Amino acid sequence: MTEKITVGSVAVDTRHWIGGERVASVDTFTDHSPIDGGVLGEISRGTALEAAAAVAAAKAAFPAWAATSRAERARVLHAVADGVEKRLEELAIVETTDNGALLRSHRRGVMPRVAHNFRFFADWLLTLEHEDFETRGHTNHVSWDPAGPCVLITPWNAPLMLATWKVAPALAAGNTVVLKPAEWSPLTASLLADIAAEAGLPAGVLNVVQGYGSEIGDALTSHPDVRRISFTGSVPTARRIAESASGNLTPLSLELGGKSPLLVFADADLDLAVDLAVEQYDNAGQVCLAATRFLVEESVAEEFTRRFVEKAGRLTQGDPRDEATDIGPTIHPRQLEKIDGFVRRALAAGARAVIGGHRKGGQYYAPTLLTDVAQDSEIVQEEVFGPVLTLQTFSTEEEAVRLANDTRFGLAATLATGDRERAERVTARLVAGTVWVNCFFVRDLQAPFGGSRHSGVGREGGTWSFDFYCDVKNTVTAP
Ligand code: NAD
Repeated sequence: MTEKITVGSVAVDTRHWIGGERVASVDTFTDHSPIDGGVLGEISRGTALEAAAAVAAAKAAFPAWAATSRAERARVLHAVADGVEKRLEELAIVETTDNGALLRSHRRGVMPRVAHNFRFFADWLLTLEHEDFETRGHTNHVSWDPAGPCVLITPWNAPLMLATWKVAPALAAGNTVVLKPAEWSPLTASLLADIAAEAGLPAGVLNVVQGYGSEIGDALTSHPDVRRISFTGSVPTARRIAESASGNLTPLSLELGGKSPLLVFADADLDLAVDLAVEQYDNAGQVCLAATRFLVEESVAEEFTRRFVEKAGRLTQGDPRDEATDIGPTIHPRQLEKIDGFVRRALAAGARAVIGGHRKGGQYYAPTLLTDVAQDSEIVQEEVFGPVLTLQTFSTEEEAVRLANDTRFGLAATLATGDRERAERVTARLVAGTVWVNCFFVRDLQAPFGGSRHSGVGREGGTWSFDFYCDVKNTVTAP
């Protein structure tokens, strides 16, 4: 296999990164670009062998990295952020080519956020303290001790952003890491390994293994030397990982799917509500947090739909490298097939496509809004992970809350209302890790992030990340 491929003008090493060295597997898998289906290259296809080598490297590097001062770890993480910023344009073009999300978002939003992930957790680490307190003259002192090697497994919809949201706090906490990116978007994780090495991160502190989750996953998640597993992805994979980790009782953080509602009340600013609604087509709907179920108060449903159709009709779909494009392709032919299957079954069950409802050639799917859908139907209950939204109406606040909470998920919810008291009342009753009131996707890294029910287990962000990635210890000292 060739060891480096060129994407745009960027050279990307397609081998694993283990113990500070590039390591090839005997077998490879082929990485395609969703933009045109073209072959990007052959990627090392990891097995239990590489999983064991990567965990061994992480274990060997752990004592020295855990013993570094907080200030030293923060310094190295800031140097990684500098490296990300220096190579921002390269990361943006490689990510867009690999996963099909918009280049303009990668340039202006996502990659700056990747750098911020490192800076934020480096700085947060330095402020992390718990006030000592006394018990009958004895002092209680809480410390966040590094836990050990962490396995971090990530999906393809926002590859480097989701990876670094885990890598940064895990490293800041003094842990070592084995990162396994998704097989549909393996490239930027490899660039991150280069950047981290250039920034002075010692060998073995960050390891990156490539491959199919079904082939390398179990060996990583059942490994007795792994102290934490953080996973972002689908519910079925989460179940598999939980089973695999159960032998060692390895602590898990699970960030999973969603079927989040957008509640539009009659007292809402309808232009704002429509803006929020159209935003749900971002990344071709391949966003875990997307508010894919519109729940609109009956009295404004017709007007909301009219304005939504008008605004959605102005979206441009096409090559994600083009600055004018609003919606790119779906990630993979299999994902496209899955999306189309959901829509065909919904239409067969009586749904009506207000817009879209069909493929558009290549891996592109038309932005779709379905109405006349039953609450217990598959299209309302299951995550599609594509540009497919549904619209239902309600007539009372009570009914709105009931419909909003009536799925097995609980990741997020968005409200459009002009009534603050209503917002408070409704929010208090919603089952969701994040609720946005008259806004969407505003995320501060110090806030807790995660889902309820099948949307996840645990919270990350700010101190919550350190609570997860550390062995939190209380030391009681006699007077
Ligand atoms: P997926 O579960 O198919 O794959 C995710 C990762 O798990 C990949 O790296 C894959 O290789 C790996 N994997 C697969 N089988 C494995 C196994 N047996 N052991 C270990 N690892 C294994 O998910 P996906 O299709 O890549 O991602 C889409 C899903 O991710 C959606 O459900 C979406 O909602 C969810 N998601 C959630 C969040 C969040 O923060 N809550 C963010 C983004 C995406």
